[in-house]
Amino acid sequence: MKQESTALPLTKQEPNYHEPSAPDLARTRPRLAIVVPCFNEELVIGETVRRLAAVLRDLRERGQVAPDSFLFFVDDGSADKTWGLLLDLNQSNPEVKGLKLARNFGHQNAVLAGLLTVRHRADCVISMDADLQHDEQAIYDFLGKYRDGADIVYGVRRDAGNVPLSKKVGSSLFYWLMTSMGAKVVKGHPDYRLVSARVLDTLADYKEVNVFLRGIFANMGFRSEVVYFDVHDRAAGTTHYSWRKMIALALDGVTSFSVVPLRIIAIGGVLITLGALAVAVFIIFSAIRGDVVPGWASTVLPIYVLGGIQIMTLGLVAEYIGKIYSEVKQRPRFITEQELS
Ligand code: UDP
Ligand code: MG
Repeated sequence: MKQESTALPLTKQEPNYHEPSAPDLARTRPRLAIVVPCFNEELVIGETVRRLAAVLRDLRERGQVAPDSFLFFVDDGSADKTWGLLLDLNQSNPEVKGLKLARNFGHQNAVLAGLLTVRHRADCVISMDADLQHDEQAIYDFLGKYRDGADIVYGVRRDAGNVPLSKKVGSSLFYWLMTSMGAKVVKGHPDYRLVSARVLDTLADYKEVNVFLRGIFANMGFRSEVVYFDVHDRAAGTTHYSWRKMIALALDGVTSFSVVPLRIIAIGGVLITLGALAVAVFIIFSAIRGDVVPGWASTVLPIYVLGGIQIMTLGLVAEYIGKIYSEVKQRPRFITEQELS
């Protein structure tokens, strides 16, 4: 009996799916969710809510987003008053929604949690930082590109004059490393972007545990656009991205999207073996000529040759590990954008 009652509305709703106006509205006046990860942001959260709510109100009044658009905060295990403040803000402003993670899972997982939680409640989702460094005025441009048909809109930093040099160097280095390893990322793009509902559905098919969202989205395809935004100083509080966390993120980025480091071992092994063979010829000639200390050739020859062969076989094993790694990630083997029926 219970099953019937849940099955019935589903079949009843099906014709709606084909109503021409629904998909149109999803583009022209989408239900927008803004996902904001927060980790110990008590100093800034009130101001963030105030500013984002103002943008949302304005968008509603202009008829650019659906009335039930909302803000979605993910408290990533804050130890301060962040969650308490969010509860209060939700009382006075019901469009403030959110969830609290059981502990600190890290920025990427917090964004992922938000995106996957709102996936069936929104037509498009914007993710941005809680500290107002990502200029909220760019949201208008994001929506413009989305209305024109983009499924992913990347926010890219306009000349980041006020970003510390260390961060600039770090991010340039990271971009260079990623691209030279053959992984796709958008230059100057932090986790400030808009994605459509179908991109979120695809995201749900990425089962990996080490999440590097920038790489995942860049990897998907779909129609994507770029919006430039100004970087502001943190409205309050301090960064939670230490060098340690940045290096960990960069390592995740490279190792999740490239097997080139493993391949370097194999190539290195082959080169060393070839070198060892050349040296071997020299050693054998020297031994035959007899101008070497007895025992030298038989000691040195195996060191070179075996060293090369060892690294080469290690590279071979690494190739298989690379295969195993990509198999266990179980990423989608293809992503459909449109189907003709
Ligand atoms: N953040 C998070 N979990 C963490 C670290 C950071 O949810 O473990 C959030 C943080 O609250 C902010 C965003 O991720 O909204 C970016 O962090 P932050 O501003 O400290 O980094 P930065 O902008 O300095 O790179
Ligand atoms: Mg920040």
